[in-house]
Amino acid sequence: GKVLVSGANGYIAVWVVRTLLEHGFSVRGAVRSADKGKHLTQLFAPYGEKFEIVVVPDITVEGAFDEAVKGVDAIEHTASPFHFQADDPAELLEPAIKGTVGILESARKYGTSVKRVVVTSSCAAVLNISTTPQLLSELDWNDQAVQEVEEKGREASAGAKYRTSKTLAERAAWDFVKKHKGEIGWDVSVMNPPLVVGPVIHAVSSPDALNTSARMMYEAFTKPGASAGGGCWIDVRDLALAHVRALEKEEAGGERIIITAGAFSWQDWLDAAPPSSKYLKGTPGAGKDAVHLLRYKNEKSIRILGLEYRSMEDTAAAAIKDYEERG
Ligand code: NDP
Repeated sequence: GKVLVSGANGYIAVWVVRTLLEHGFSVRGAVRSADKGKHLTQLFAPYGEKFEIVVVPDITVEGAFDEAVKGVDAIEHTASPFHFQADDPAELLEPAIKGTVGILESARKYGTSVKRVVVTSSCAAVLNISTTPQLLSELDWNDQAVQEVEEKGREASAGAKYRTSKTLAERAAWDFVKKHKGEIGWDVSVMNPPLVVGPVIHAVSSPDALNTSARMMYEAFTKPGASAGGGCWIDVRDLALAHVRALEKEEAGGERIIITAGAFSWQDWLDAAPPSSKYLKGTPGAGKDAVHLLRYKNEKSIRILGLEYRSMEDTAAAAIKDYEERG
């Protein structure tokens, strides 16, 4: 089958494209300009006609994906801004929500062969910030961030703005399916990852140009003092496999699925690096007793998608190898 991947030049998406191709799918990668498709065309040249680029200049425009969805069997919608620089929350909300609803609307009208749409949401749409430790599941929704942005607008925290964009975009996807159930021949499966780390294969000109999550890890390894705190994580390669399994497994339809390997302190990553690593070592062991306020259940991902999560050592080794190869 053929799969449309939106935001195909992004950190996660390039791994999704690669994994789809490895699993025998053909891929149509949507990017904002022909220039942004060049690296992909080179990277996936060995797959010949099984990989093609489509240019969708502005995902917020009505009907933006009308042509792109024609003839595909499935869609992986990953395009959405992930950064903490927005002043006006609309900078994040507009592309997140309109991009999601727009691609679903195009699929409803012109995606006559589409069977499934996988939407890349986030644990940002699940979590609530609290001072006591929590174990969250797919039943949880981040209404807290949405409320903060409603109340404070531009004065809301950078985190709340991003999290609101993910929460409202995911809600919009589920609402769309509910509203149009009788008229669509496809269903939706949602992936909810926390911080995504591991090797980079998209086009990155310098460490400053790294996407938000890969840059956080790079900084932990290279900037003294950047290794305080932590979160929950997933290796980008495992997340890409989850996106492919979400197409391959019938049971993934209609499901919201958290994709995580567990919690970390940044120090744990420094400790997990190969002994030969020339990067920062921090204070070995200092992350072990950290209290993780947020944890997520991942049973559903194992049951439905059959995921086997990589270890921190595996991910750290791959990330370090990547830094070394880039100099
Ligand atoms: P990247 O920044 O590497 O990729 C984002 C992709 O979305 C790029 O293709 C980018 O296109 C596109 N995009 C961003 N803003 C817009 C916009 N306004 N209009 C059209 N396209 C846009 O980030 P990731 O790969 O990390 O993120 C991919 C998805 O994963 C996002 O939905 C993100 O929310 C989600 N996610 C990421 C996590 C992480 O830790 N990385 C964690 C949880 C979820 P362009 O290059 O042209 O800007």
